[in-house]
Amino acid sequence: MSLREFIEAERAVGDAVIEIEEEVSTDHEAAALMKKYDGGPTLVFKRLKGYRHQAVAGVCGTRDRIYRAIGADHDTYCRRLAWAVENPKPPEVAEAGPVFEVAEPPDLESIPIFRHYERDPGRYITSGIVVARSVDGSFQNASIHRLLVLGKDRLAIRIVPRHLHAMLEEGSMIGKNLEVAIVIGSHPAVMVGVNSGPEYRVNELWVANSLLGGKLKVVRCPDVGLEVPCDAEYVLVGEISTDETAEEGPFVDLTGTYDIVRKQPVVRIKRVFRREGAIYQALLPGGSEHKLLMGVPKEARMYEAISKAIPKVKGVRLTPGGGCWFHAVVSVRKQVEGDGKNAALAALGSNPSLKHVVVVDEDINIDSSEEVEWAIATRFQGDRDLIVVNGARGSSLDPSSDQVRILTTKLGIDATIPLDKPKEKFVRAVIPEVDHVQEYR
Ligand code: MN
Repeated sequence: MSLREFIEAERAVGDAVIEIEEEVSTDHEAAALMKKYDGGPTLVFKRLKGYRHQAVAGVCGTRDRIYRAIGADHDTYCRRLAWAVENPKPPEVAEAGPVFEVAEPPDLESIPIFRHYERDPGRYITSGIVVARSVDGSFQNASIHRLLVLGKDRLAIRIVPRHLHAMLEEGSMIGKNLEVAIVIGSHPAVMVGVNSGPEYRVNELWVANSLLGGKLKVVRCPDVGLEVPCDAEYVLVGEISTDETAEEGPFVDLTGTYDIVRKQPVVRIKRVFRREGAIYQALLPGGSEHKLLMGVPKEARMYEAISKAIPKVKGVRLTPGGGCWFHAVVSVRKQVEGDGKNAALAALGSNPSLKHVVVVDEDINIDSSEEVEWAIATRFQGDRDLIVVNGARGSSLDPSSDQVRILTTKLGIDATIPLDKPKEKFVRAVIPEVDHVQEYR
């Protein structure tokens, strides 16, 4: 189940793939096109100035494509993701794979890595899945990290204090560099699985395999033995050194604003493997694909948590205006007064980065910011339906939060219809069905 096969299948869906035949520069020009078509079709860059290879962008840029990739739909994706996280399945280990068709000494200059925004310090790999094995060899981890190109064989890697960070620390305690395989160009279900947030020591590629119905095949990398998807486009093999850091950033994050510059670890690349005619996979920072890959797996976790707090949750959205990170809308079938507030509290508790949540009844389309606003306008009273929590742990990505202690104020907005008022006052008027509505143009 490769990226190529997925794109081929998407062509059948109609306008989901655009081929760009003209020569495009990887310096800002490709990024401008990604921005222009953000949240729309997958782009295939056929000719990139100065490079032999093609690139694709925006593969996970719409919810429908993500749903198709993981074999789910609008109504089932939360449960499917939650199931895969609970039921990770080891993939078949193949003897060989197309990803090793070509082996080369490291030369990051020869890979069409894009430069995106105005103040970016250089070219960034933004879809790289970093695969590593724990120091004791007992488990493998996979996570996506932004990687700034520092030279032919060096990258700065942003590592937030999560799993890879813990593994690197375990290595540094015994003076051991962490071997990594950086996978670029994967089936979108692999991207989603890697972002699905299972517990420490669970291999995210196993979650991806469950999402793919057991069809993922992995192969062991020469030199390091790390298991990687056998039909990935590129694998960069190297190690994260415990003794070298470099400045990383500024980089545009989910909010569309620049993150700060930090000292971050350096990855030294030793070998590059790739398929014949490798296709580089690009992802626009702060774009739809970035937001959905971060947000959709979080929605699944929130859905499960809120479902434990109230009986009938209909849907959960991390909305694009909030970067699919800070703002959520939850729709519920309210059964008793207080369900709305409990849903809001469960949402805030289940996602530490969440800042504002709106709870609505199931007649509201949670993908429509206009309908959500309408619910707030007609069903919400600030003195009665608002929950305010001061001084909660927030996200460093929010420039309005307390940037020193990373504290934020969280709001829950209960925009459900109050049960002690007549419901007919709150429901949208409808025009009765008629036999035939003529089209005029
Ligand atoms: Mn992990």
